[in-house]
Amino acid sequence: MQNQLTTYLRAGYPGLAVISSEEARAEAEIAAACTSLKRRLHAWSSTEGLVDTQEGRVTQCQDPLEVLQLLDGIFATDSPRHVVLLRDLQLHLDQTDPMLVRRLKDILRIAKSNGHAIILLGCRLKLPPELEHEITHVDFSLPDAAQLGTVLDGILKSAKLKAPHDAIREGALQSALGLTTTEAENAFALSVVETNGIDHRIISREKAHTLKRNGLVEVVAATTSLNDIGGLDLLKEWLERRSGAFSASAKAYGLPAPKGLLIVGIPGTGKSLTAKATAGAFGLPLLRLDMGCVFGGIVGQSEANLRSVIQTAEAIAPCVLWIDEIEKGFSGSKSSGSTDGGTSSRVFGSFLSWMQEKEKPVFVVATANDVSKLPPEFLRKGRFDEMFFVDLPDALERAQIWDIIIKRHGRKPADFDTVALSRACEQFTGAEIEAVFVDAMHEAYAEGREPKAKDILEAMTHTVPLAQLMDGQIAALRHWAKGRAREAASHAKSGSRTGRRISSQAN
Ligand code: ATP
Repeated sequence: MQNQLTTYLRAGYPGLAVISSEEARAEAEIAAACTSLKRRLHAWSSTEGLVDTQEGRVTQCQDPLEVLQLLDGIFATDSPRHVVLLRDLQLHLDQTDPMLVRRLKDILRIAKSNGHAIILLGCRLKLPPELEHEITHVDFSLPDAAQLGTVLDGILKSAKLKAPHDAIREGALQSALGLTTTEAENAFALSVVETNGIDHRIISREKAHTLKRNGLVEVVAATTSLNDIGGLDLLKEWLERRSGAFSASAKAYGLPAPKGLLIVGIPGTGKSLTAKATAGAFGLPLLRLDMGCVFGGIVGQSEANLRSVIQTAEAIAPCVLWIDEIEKGFSGSKSSGSTDGGTSSRVFGSFLSWMQEKEKPVFVVATANDVSKLPPEFLRKGRFDEMFFVDLPDALERAQIWDIIIKRHGRKPADFDTVALSRACEQFTGAEIEAVFVDAMHEAYAEGREPKAKDILEAMTHTVPLAQLMDGQIAALRHWAKGRAREAASHAKSGSRTGRRISSQAN
């Protein structure tokens, strides 16, 4: 942040906002930027009043209106140049006091003409429209490995522990990426308490808990591999070919990190499974984002939530960010403005810009069942590297899925005629094949024996495949995918393994 902040201050931006829950670290960076630019820093909070950090002089004033009045005097001349840090002003702005908004606008004008600046610092910020164009957001990233290293050293010192081996230290710092300094400090301390040392598994576990508690992204164990997916040969091949793209040698080669993948298709056909297997294939950590949780909460929170997700993913990068059923999160952006005051549109716009411009290696895997709900800008080239369409599995793919599912449930595929089973379940998705097998296992278990083909065939008779219930939607999806998306499977019938765009219906 320091570089960006220094640039804005030098360029004479009068109003800046830093959104972070890491107050101490943000303040340290603001102080460092002021020192390097020889600006005089004052810090205000409603509890401490206004502190001149150079002289340590405190002026008592709890009311934000009062402090803005004081700034009139401080900003009266252009030398020395002052920076005033206002903590938690958003709590007062939430009540949209017209006097406060007006005073802020006045003071920003004076600051601009005399080369001073105010910086709003808080964990969220929703500005009234009158101030939206007056205040510039400064990005504040989560701590990098070097900053976390300082935190770790502090914990080791206070626990009177020797410095761990380089590999252990590196593992601990990598595991803590994505946490704030306080969260990392807690995780390191817990590791010391539990093991009297530093154990990256405890830190990873704590990170998973912390991110889950924060409610936006979740760390998912990347235990799935491409071999766990039946069919989808072209999609798997595409992923395999990119599996080394995040390595140091790929970087040295000059290969740009892949941006992401959109997988569109029929429910239950293995889209989520592929998202999980992507992380396994790439050897990267997997984060799952619930887009629904980004929206909602307090007004102004959605934007802050998205920013927080991006910060977490970028701190952990290289990583895979999986967004399941992305259309559910962004569908509101089409009608936005009339329904939610434009929030979905704004969040959607920020997400698209990030997808387009992101420099950190975050590979986004988005899955969608209903493309009609996705705004067209989303599908424009440049957002994702590729868009794949997953159709119903054909006979060969179903046989492969049977093999995988039977194995996954601890049985031997050789004990079943999976080709015959595959023929018997035309139009079934992978999810339905699994459900049928689980059903057969229940029946067999109730009778104290192993499942047999007859149990499976019996279970099939009780299943109406989704493809029959949703034939209209599926036809529309296939129609949409024609010429737009790449086929995920070559399908034995079409005889093509070229990954061409869809020109005919599969199955
Ligand atoms: P939805 O759109 O409803 O989320 P999806 O396309 O993401 O569905 P998954 O959640 O990946 O489907 O599939 C559900 C389960 O079905 C998987 O966990 C897996 O057990 C099984 N399955 C589906 N497709 C396949 C496949 N191609 N190979 C192996 N298993 C599969």
